Amino acid sequence: MAPAIFDYILVGGGSAGCALANRLSADASTRVLVLEAGRPDYIWDPYIHMPAALTFPIGNRYYDWRYESEPEPWLNDRRVYHARGKLLGGSSSINGMIFQRGNPLDYERWAADPGMGEWDYAHCLPYFKRMENCLAAPGTPDAEFRGESGPLVLERGPASGPLFGAFFAAARQAGYALTTDVNGYRQEGFAAFDRNIRAGRRLSAARAYLHPVLSRPNLTVATGAHVTRILFSGTRATGVEFVPGGTLGALGMRGGAPRRATGGEVIVCAGAFGSPALLQLSGIGNATDLRALGIDVVADLPGVGENLQDHLEVYVQYGSKRPVSVAPALKWRNRPIVAGQWLFARTGPGATNHFEAGGFVRSNESVPYPNLMFHFLPIAIRYDGSAPAGGHGYQVHIGPMYSDSRGSVRIRSRDPFEKPALRFNYLSTETDRREWTEAIAIARNILGQPAFDPFNAGELSPGPAATTDAEVLSWVARDAETALHPSCTCAMGTGPMSVTDPGSLSVHGVSGLRVVDASVMPYVTNGNIYAPVMMTAEKSADLITGNTPLPPEPIPFYRHASV
Ligand SMILES: Cc1cc2nc3c(=O)[nH]c(=O)nc-3n(C[C@H](O)[C@H](O)[C@H](O)COP(=O)(O)OP(=O)(O)OC[C@H]3O[C@@H](n4cnc5c(N)ncnc54)[C@H](O)[C@@H]3O)c2cc1C
Repeated sequence: MAPAIFDYILVGGGSAGCALANRLSADASTRVLVLEAGRPDYIWDPYIHMPAALTFPIGNRYYDWRYESEPEPWLNDRRVYHARGKLLGGSSSINGMIFQRGNPLDYERWAADPGMGEWDYAHCLPYFKRMENCLAAPGTPDAEFRGESGPLVLERGPASGPLFGAFFAAARQAGYALTTDVNGYRQEGFAAFDRNIRAGRRLSAARAYLHPVLSRPNLTVATGAHVTRILFSGTRATGVEFVPGGTLGALGMRGGAPRRATGGEVIVCAGAFGSPALLQLSGIGNATDLRALGIDVVADLPGVGENLQDHLEVYVQYGSKRPVSVAPALKWRNRPIVAGQWLFARTGPGATNHFEAGGFVRSNESVPYPNLMFHFLPIAIRYDGSAPAGGHGYQVHIGPMYSDSRGSVRIRSRDPFEKPALRFNYLSTETDRREWTEAIAIARNILGQPAFDPFNAGELSPGPAATTDAEVLSWVARDAETALHPSCTCAMGTGPMSVTDPGSLSVHGVSGLRVVDASVMPYVTNGNIYAPVMMTAEKSADLITGNTPLPPEPIPFYRHASV
């Protein structure tokens, strides 16, 4: 087959990739190719479409890249498991569906860096609005912050039942406020959360952005296409090399030798691990490191793969005296009923992600905006579905949200199929460790309030053995898992460690190459990061096509009195 010529070659049909595929192919004269290493998001697959099945794809090679960190020095040299979606929709096809924009001050922080002025909240807000259809917002005071007609339909968690009731009451008893919408005027406080669920099904980026436009003749989507290298003529990207590893959708190829796709521009959307790794494999990165691996250097860009940020989290679990948790829905004998109810009516325990509510808290008076996020679950269970506490229980997921620990993603060899070395350095700074002890104290304070008295059968985890700060930190080191928000490894900016240009998402030092995904964030936001990734993709689409950017919306948002 003769190499096809495309205007844009998107590497990765994940969250950002699907949004860009839609926006870039809206102009019928623009030919767009999406190369996705994973498989299609089959319509019949309950593992990805049934919200409560969210734990099943994790660790499964048909859905998950199955990364693992290097031994983490501050976590007793533990390797931390990192799931990443490997299918159309990318991580949005296997994630927890929690929708959090982050705090407006996250974007003010971005904008304070040189060259980042147009990434402040006023410039990002119109794109948050364009991408979403928030069903809960119309008629509320937060409506002016929310979108009503975008592809990402958001359902608010019902957060009803005795345990959610106790949680909200306990937060108030502990002195925290409730807020009407954590994605609206005021993030700080406790509230029901928005979710990427539509009529009982997961609404991934693929379902929201890609499937509705798959019939466009100028859009080609290939699955099972692992991109191994970006091709260059001098410092100009001319296309990519990819290995068809299985079924290969619309290009109609199967297995075998590497193929090439050539085009006007390459846009890498391979995620916070995949994007820097592909750049390094292609000769863009720290020149000394690349030469040591025998890779010809195209651009000496030392920031590629550096500045890795993430959120670490633990579960503070309690047993429940009353049989009011959702534990029965997980029992094997009840699963056929739950599955049947979901299959035929899209209702019941299968139709929710169970992450229906939570909150944002400042752990001390020196932080300008919430540095802790809570998710409350009316069950005691680990994220990967393992180690349920047995009977009824409840838990909060908690962890610091803008930790100053930094890590890296570095390839180990020239082999594009060898996974890169991931180092996070979790808990490596004093601030990070202090915020952890504050976080656990606050979680215990809330869960120990009188509102929980009718349910509280005692703390299961960390339990009475973790009392002093040192014991708490030791438990965190043993027990914490990633909240799955790796980011910032091809950061936008103009400084020597930046990788992408804030005004165009072009990679510094080369032409015809851009990166758009979680890796371009300069700082991780203070919540789950899918929504910020999608906003970044929406805004980047206008920057790439040259469309007139949406006008900024400088509306006031909540700031704590100290800010
Ligand atoms: C299990 C899990 C739960 C999460 N829960 C939440 C949540 O509840 N809420 C939230 O906001 N965030 C959550 N996140 C995080 C969020 O989903 C991700 O941060 C976001 O989706 C990342 O988007 P992305 O476009 O950067 O990357 P991805 O969506 O991961 O897309 C990258 C794509 O590139 C493909 N790819 C990679 N390398 C190559 C290559 N060489 N060639 C071709 N294709 C390639 C991948 O297969 C993938 O499809 C979760 C993540 C995971 C994994």
